[in-house]
Amino acid sequence: KRLGYAIVGLGQFALNQIIPSFAESKSSKLVALVSGNRDKALQVAERYGVQQKNIYDYQSFDRIADNDEIDIVYIILPNALHAEYTVRAFKAGKHVLCEKPMAVTAEECETMIRAGREADRKLMIAYRAQYEPYNMEAIRMAREGELGKIRLVTSDHGRILDPKVPADQWRMVKALAGGGSLYDIGIYSLQAARYITGEEPVEVSAHISSDTSDPRFREIEELVAFQLRFPSGALASLTSSYSTSPVKRIQVFGSKASLVLDPATEYERHQMMVKTEKEERRVQSPEGNQFAAEMDHMAKAVLEKREPKTPGEEGLRDIRIMQAVYRAAQEGRPVSLETTGSTAR
Ligand code: NAD
Repeated sequence: KRLGYAIVGLGQFALNQIIPSFAESKSSKLVALVSGNRDKALQVAERYGVQQKNIYDYQSFDRIADNDEIDIVYIILPNALHAEYTVRAFKAGKHVLCEKPMAVTAEECETMIRAGREADRKLMIAYRAQYEPYNMEAIRMAREGELGKIRLVTSDHGRILDPKVPADQWRMVKALAGGGSLYDIGIYSLQAARYITGEEPVEVSAHISSDTSDPRFREIEELVAFQLRFPSGALASLTSSYSTSPVKRIQVFGSKASLVLDPATEYERHQMMVKTEKEERRVQSPEGNQFAAEMDHMAKAVLEKREPKTPGEEGLRDIRIMQAVYRAAQEGRPVSLETTGSTAR
């Protein structure tokens, strides 16, 4: 059985990655579109076989409550709109898959989680890397001890923010993005440290640097370097950048071997190497469509009435840690996370 998805927001990511990936899904189908641009929605509907009666705009959105074809609402809007549309989707009785970062504040995340519970609907955050075969293999190797004891994780995510690209324009506005490079892509570095170690950090220290003479960084941060300490004693050294050439890399250093995933969080064509003192070998994984896998995971969670692997609580943890990163950088000293509700997994 395939569950019906409504896509909210027909931007760059929705159009180029998500909507085409329904063709490779097994448990998901595209049935509805929500957009402020009627012409664009009509074109997309025509191309992907969505019925015209299933096109909504942001005003008519709440009428999805009357549409039984829609099971799951997938929110792909600027970050500051995630909370509002998640709550409205739950009020309409739908399940929600929401893009990262989950929201702007921890309070918004808590409201979203509560709304899902009250409506008895599932909430999943679209942490695609956790559904991507190379990352899943790296997690397996780390957890099953193939690298020895994990002592250090480093991860870097960077790209050049381009004010000419519409998708980057709202990213420069704090009220819409919530934060800068950290919220947008540093979250992948943070996720990597958490899913590779399988631990929750207990302490964070951080530096932030922004060239404020650059109009891109008037409101949001440019560069972030932060470190996490985990209960086992493992450390993570993580960065994000909005002004340097593209990087999406994860490195894991264990007592027996190290692993390099580079690129680690691309849309496709990942590469993984495992190095020991004696040898260096390439690890091949079947390259699967991570977007289809992610949507199917959500559909199965709904069908089988179980929690998705990346529920709202997972999104909330990252928002709390990223808020602690800002605080540590601002105060110029480490911030303890023990009291901010991190839970061991
Ligand atoms: P985008 O700007 O291309 O898309 C956002 C869409 O929201 C646009 O179509 C825009 O018209 C619409 N919108 C509705 N109300 C708006 C408002 N008030 N202001 C501005 N736009 C409004 O951006 P995107 O890159 O597609 O990002 C959308 C979301 O998806 C973000 O949360 C982003 O973090 C996430 N994203 C995730 C990945 C991933 O790999 N998981 C990749 C890219 C983006």
